[in-house]
Amino acid sequence: MKTYECVIIGAGVAGMTAAIYLKRAGISVLLLEKGVPGGQINKTSIIENYPGFKKIDGPTLAMNMLDQVQSLDIPYQYGNVLSIEVDGDYKIIKTDMETIMTSRIILASGRKPRELGLSNEKKLLGSGISYCAYCDGMLYKNQDVVVIGGGNSALEEALYLADICKTVYIVHRRLEYRADDILVKKLEKYDNIKPCLGQNVIEILEKDNRVSGVRLSDNSILPVTGVFIYIGQIPETSFIEDLITLKDGYVMTNEHLETNIPGIYACGDVIKKELYQISTAIGEGALAGTNVVKSLK
Ligand SMILES: Cc1cc2nc3c(=O)[nH]c(=O)nc-3n(C[C@H](O)[C@H](O)[C@H](O)COP(=O)(O)OP(=O)(O)OC[C@H]3O[C@@H](n4cnc5c(N)ncnc54)[C@H](O)[C@@H]3O)c2cc1C
Repeated sequence: MKTYECVIIGAGVAGMTAAIYLKRAGISVLLLEKGVPGGQINKTSIIENYPGFKKIDGPTLAMNMLDQVQSLDIPYQYGNVLSIEVDGDYKIIKTDMETIMTSRIILASGRKPRELGLSNEKKLLGSGISYCAYCDGMLYKNQDVVVIGGGNSALEEALYLADICKTVYIVHRRLEYRADDILVKKLEKYDNIKPCLGQNVIEILEKDNRVSGVRLSDNSILPVTGVFIYIGQIPETSFIEDLITLKDGYVMTNEHLETNIPGIYACGDVIKKELYQISTAIGEGALAGTNVVKSLK
């Protein structure tokens, strides 16, 4: 069985940061990831609030971080973590590929998009429904699309789509956006962005197994071919729900980023906190990494 001093679950910005701090301190560390390195930032078209870069797209930032991880020879491998067992100071991690032993774990498994919960949403994923404008936007060039949501992510991605698509409707259940003023002002400059505020999408219409429109709560229909959903995120904690103390699905930590289990730390979007951003995830990754180093030395 492979053995490390610390295993980090999730190679988003929080996990990669923790890995850099651990490796530079001489700790044997493994980064485990079930998807692509960088996590959520791969779904982000424009980042304008991460200091050091006036404007950068998410995948480029992810690749810059991965490059730094690889330059330090930090072991990185695919693995979907299914469970963790604790045996004193040792923790056994079971993935879909193997079993790994470690004395410290950093949970950095982040969040995934919240679904609308409409009956044909899963079926139409990839056939008109998307949670990533940056990945799929070009498939809807010169077409009419709708963005659902009114937060920063929804508005950022609507702005990205407005340069590609013919019309971008924004459906938001409130009468005002819940986003930064700078984004709202940018949005107002686009003639092809059409807000539908105070509305919900109650039905996704389909034709030949593809999205053909959405029905709103006032019963009107938007004839769109693409539906981009940004109604929030949910934490990726199903694999630890029997072990770790959670609140609303998020990992509870103390100020040292320790969980209720000695030797298991957490950082980034998976923890219960006030602000879910790249800068906070990176700060917590640094702190969790540093505290693991202290605990091992
Ligand atoms: C559309 C969008 C736009 C955004 N725009 C901005 C912005 O402009 N500025 C900003 O600061 N923030 C922005 N954010 C928020 C920011 O992306 C996140 O706060 C940050 O990336 C969180 O990083 P993380 O490492 O904590 O988690 P994540 O990025 O979620 O990474 C967690 C990783 O863990 C992996 N994982 C999960 N479960 C397991 C498992 N069981 N086994 C193995 N691996 C697992 C996942 O595959 C993922 O790669 C945006 C988010 C979205 C969705």
